[in-house]
Amino acid sequence: MEEVRPNDDEMFESMLCVPESKLFTTGINGVTFEDVVIFVNAGGGKIEDQDSSTKIEGDTHFEGGDAIKTNADILDTGNLPSALYQSARYGTVISYAFCDLPPGNYFVDLHFAEIVYTNGPKGMRVFDVFIQRQKVLSEVDIYALVGANKPLVILDVGVNVEECGQILVKFEGVRGSPSISGICIREAKKTIAPTRTFLKSGSHLCGKCASETERSPLQDRVVLRYERKIQDLESLCKHKTDECYEAWMSLTDANAQLERLRMELDTKLFHSDSLDQDIRIQAEKLESVSARYEGDKRRWAAALRGLQEKVELMKTEQAQLSREAHECASGVPELSKMIAGVQALVTQCEDLKIKYSEELCKRRKLYNQVQEAKGNIRVFCRCRPLTKEEISAGYSTALDFEGAKDGDLGLSSSSSSRKMFKFDRVFTPKDDQSAVYADASPLVVSVLDGFNVCIFAYGQTGTGKTFTMEGPEQSRGVNYRTLEELFKIARDKREAFSYDVTVSVLEVYNEQIRDLLASSSTSSKKLKVRQASEVPGIVEAKVESVEEAWDVLRAGSSARVVGSNNVNEHSSRSHCMLGVRVKAKNLVNRECTNSKLWLVDLAGSERLAKTDAQGERLKEAQSINKSLSALGDVISALANKSSHIPYRNSKLTHLLQDSLGGDSKVLMFVQVSPSENDYSETLSSLNFATRVRGVELGPAKRQVDNGELQKTKQLLDKVKQECRLKEETLRRMEESYQSLEGKLRNKDQLCRSLQEKLKDLEGQLQAKADLRSSSDRQQLLQVSEALKAKEEACSTLQQNVKEIENRLKEQQQSAMYTVKDLECRLNERESREYLLEQKIKALQWKLEEVSRRPMITTQRGEVEVEVEEGAYGRILRASTIENQGGAAQTESELLKGVEPLQHVKRRRERETGNEGFNGNEIKERRRKSLAPRPSFGRVTRAATTATLPTRGAAAAPLKLPARGQDKERATKIWSR
Ligand code: ADP
Ligand code: MG
Repeated sequence: MEEVRPNDDEMFESMLCVPESKLFTTGINGVTFEDVVIFVNAGGGKIEDQDSSTKIEGDTHFEGGDAIKTNADILDTGNLPSALYQSARYGTVISYAFCDLPPGNYFVDLHFAEIVYTNGPKGMRVFDVFIQRQKVLSEVDIYALVGANKPLVILDVGVNVEECGQILVKFEGVRGSPSISGICIREAKKTIAPTRTFLKSGSHLCGKCASETERSPLQDRVVLRYERKIQDLESLCKHKTDECYEAWMSLTDANAQLERLRMELDTKLFHSDSLDQDIRIQAEKLESVSARYEGDKRRWAAALRGLQEKVELMKTEQAQLSREAHECASGVPELSKMIAGVQALVTQCEDLKIKYSEELCKRRKLYNQVQEAKGNIRVFCRCRPLTKEEISAGYSTALDFEGAKDGDLGLSSSSSSRKMFKFDRVFTPKDDQSAVYADASPLVVSVLDGFNVCIFAYGQTGTGKTFTMEGPEQSRGVNYRTLEELFKIARDKREAFSYDVTVSVLEVYNEQIRDLLASSSTSSKKLKVRQASEVPGIVEAKVESVEEAWDVLRAGSSARVVGSNNVNEHSSRSHCMLGVRVKAKNLVNRECTNSKLWLVDLAGSERLAKTDAQGERLKEAQSINKSLSALGDVISALANKSSHIPYRNSKLTHLLQDSLGGDSKVLMFVQVSPSENDYSETLSSLNFATRVRGVELGPAKRQVDNGELQKTKQLLDKVKQECRLKEETLRRMEESYQSLEGKLRNKDQLCRSLQEKLKDLEGQLQAKADLRSSSDRQQLLQVSEALKAKEEACSTLQQNVKEIENRLKEQQQSAMYTVKDLECRLNERESREYLLEQKIKALQWKLEEVSRRPMITTQRGEVEVEVEEGAYGRILRASTIENQGGAAQTESELLKGVEPLQHVKRRRERETGNEGFNGNEIKERRRKSLAPRPSFGRVTRAATTATLPTRGAAAAPLKLPARGQDKERATKIWSR
């Protein structure tokens, strides 16, 4: 505890007006407050401190002023609670009146602390304190004494309380408002002299310390002077204090203004901060933009450099191009030369095409000649194997196939002698479908060449007609294979030809035509054959592949099944006809053809036992007989080149009219059974087929030992062989020619496209001579190279074509030579024949002469003349049957003494008006007489063996049987 004694400091001394009172500038410690009457906490509440025994009441007994509190720490409060100094009452005038106190002596303690103006200057708050109207403290300035928030304590201010029982403590401001933190009233054990009452006379009470002093008048004057001085000083001090206060107030204003300015500055700072931030962001943005700009700049610079390089490069290229363009321009004449060359090649190609079509025509003619040489009606005989039933029944084979390779077939039975038949081909039971078809396939070429073709199977039921024509699925027959090849060839030739193929399926039953492709509604319609074998109203399905065609045929077959009760029986009683129409268009010369192919599975040819034939069956049998007979008649008439061909005798022949006669080609499969049980039917079928083929080889004829004839036959076979070979080579040549043509066409097209390209390039050259690119130049080079290559290819092609042409010509010539050679030989033979005839005539005449002479007796004899008409004409052979040697003798006898034979002959000729005929004239005559016959015709008349009596008939010139007679006989054989 720091006690400030008034003596220690003048200021304190001048402040304390009551003697014995003590002033402390810090809190009081170690002082015990005894006899406390009341202790109030001015401006605050009641304080109950456990540690101290002092009880401090809340603020009471006051008058005026306001309470004020602070949270600031109050330092050095001693053993009193700091809360006491944290509150205060302040105001311009404050007073505390403690009443009802017993009269006596009391001590009053005053506790101060500057908590209002903590940072104020000294002299801000200066006040006087009065107790019982006596000034006890004068001009207290708390801040000046202890500073802010520090206790200032005045202890033991003695007060004497009289009857009124009141202690009045009053605070009056000198400057500013007084403030008080606590007042403590204690009972005083000692007596306190009353202040005023104790003042002696003549003594002076100090205005400061209230001490009573005695003084002299001088002293009084001095005191007065001093008092005046003091007053002056006080007024000066007051003035200064006022100034100070004003200054302080202006300072406060300035502070407030400063605060405002600080606030403004703060806002400005904040604003500037935000602005700074903005600027920073903008700066960052600017940086990124500038970085980007730098990158872009670099890129653009690089691009610019690249572009500059490119420009340089382009400039050099342009210079090069312009040079090249100049070169190209100088090369244009060469180019036009090339074009001219290509055009020449194209014209050559056109020529070649024309030549090719001419060659094609020639080939076709030759092919047809070959076909004609073979005969337009060809007959193949096919024999099926013995069935299991036949084998188990023990039937043996009635046919022998020894000469099958040469087309010979023998038929024999236990009851009759062996009969020989000759056909174009004989297929044994071992021959399979493909072998059978191989010989029929050339006809497909004819169909595509525009010829009508008819392939039919004839024979007894169960001999394999359907097998040959249709065949089972695993081994297809002629129908399927023909269609397959038809489409194959059409496909191969599609570059030169366009084909349009339609199929129709018909059935002829009981002389009625049924369209098997017609829908059920139209199928009941009666179909009639009109002009040129056309049947109006039949369905012709357009097909583009063999599969489509086969589907159509299957549809037809199923329709056939639907329309009948017993399929097998019905099928063997009706003719099934598959018609294929081919419309071809030559894309080179625009020639169009319309040809027809008939594939016919005929009804069974077997004869019904007369007892079986009744009702419907009889009608069926009659219809079949009628149609098959009509077929035989038609073929026979065709073979005989009869002026009238009886097509209209049956529906079958009427339908086939345009495929049987004229230029059309016919192939007949005669199907036979090998079983001896079917001997008679087989014989009948073979006879029919032989009639169709036009050659009948009887057993007698085979045994004739005719050397010349044999030779001729051999020759004929050889020629046939050659023909076949030529045909083969021709076909091959045609194929190679076609492939060459195809290649040529391709090259042609290539040339044309190249030409077009060339034209384009020319145009570009003229338009952009200075901007021509190197690729164009390369293209030009390529084009010229390609052109050269094409030229070479064309020249090789031309050579090839020429070679082929030469070969073809050679072969044609050789064929022509052989044909001519054969013709010459034939002529020779004919002239020899004629001479022989003449000789015979002369001999006959001689004989007659001799017989007329009675004195010459001759031995009678018979002359057998055999006239045979072979493939190249007739060969007449004469021989004396009885005695050839005898005849010669007769002749020699006749010659004896009579005119020589030549003379007789000459006379005879004179008589008959044949005088003057030399060898050539004879040949000419023979040729004329043979003229109507085909020079290579296979269809020949049957060999005739005539036994001529030497008498009577011998005088008549020897003639072949007339056609009428032939026909009569034919009809006899055909009719059943
Ligand atoms: P068609 O039509 O003349 O009445 P099919 O064609 O129906 O006779 O033939 C009768 C039977 O003979 C069938 O079972 C058939 O398979 C058989 N057949 C016919 N020809 C041959 C052959 N060349 N090879 C094998 N079997 C055959
Ligand atoms: Mg059949």
